[in-house]
Amino acid sequence: KASRNFKKENTIITLKNGLKIGDGNFVTMAGPCSVESEEQLRIIATEVKKSGTRILRGGVFKPRTSPYAFQGLGIEGLKLMRKVADELGMAIVTELMSKEYLDDFVKYTDIIQIGARNMQNFDLLKAVGKTKTPILLKRGASATIEEWLMSAEYIMAGGNDNVIMCERGIRTFEKYTRNTLDISSVLAIKELSHLPVIVDPSHAAGKWSLIEDLTLASLAVGSDGMIVEVHHKPEEALSDGAQSLKPEKYEHMMRKLEVLGTAL
Ligand code: PEP
Ligand code: MN
Repeated sequence: KASRNFKKENTIITLKNGLKIGDGNFVTMAGPCSVESEEQLRIIATEVKKSGTRILRGGVFKPRTSPYAFQGLGIEGLKLMRKVADELGMAIVTELMSKEYLDDFVKYTDIIQIGARNMQNFDLLKAVGKTKTPILLKRGASATIEEWLMSAEYIMAGGNDNVIMCERGIRTFEKYTRNTLDISSVLAIKELSHLPVIVDPSHAAGKWSLIEDLTLASLAVGSDGMIVEVHHKPEEALSDGAQSLKPEKYEHMMRKLEVLGTAL
């Protein structure tokens, strides 16, 4: 079902609020790595909205490497996201780690994110496959393109055709960046599949200074959009501060995208 041989025309995904992904425009999603408080979320959401972004990202269930690191605000954070996004007229994308919360996610989110670590959690893929909510499927850090597409297939096999692929960097021998952005995977997905594909330069690079140019590179290869981490006080962020753009830098990048003729 995910294959280009199965369906020739590109899939266009329409969110609850009418926003489209995969229609030729470069869609932008931005916000903090973790939702930390109502105030933090509102400040960041207001800034990215001002820059032209209409999809707010933020983690409320965080897949942290250490069990002692901040784990997220949970369902309370999800409700906060909905509240702040509704105030600003934005859609939200947030990560689901357990099917225990599936009903809440269907109710409150516009896009459910399946994180890199859960890309092959087949039970979770089957669960979201039974919904109609658009799914942002991140590529696992060690997953081949074929494995990643097979995970999309799991979701689609259940009846949910609304899958957005997201390249977020893969693990290589290189240490300068957190992961290696596999820019060619965007081209591969476009050849092999009709599904929209976006890039997450934040988790790929791990460094805020690389984000703007990696985003422009993704635009050049035909990505349908990006998802980027933004924080007004990156040095105080509870997660991923080093790769988070300050709102001024985000605004700079958005204006550059606009100059390149992209409708946001
Ligand atoms: C995130 O989006 O904050 C995240 C944890 O992403 P990934 O699953 O790509 O590491
Ligand atoms: Mn993050």
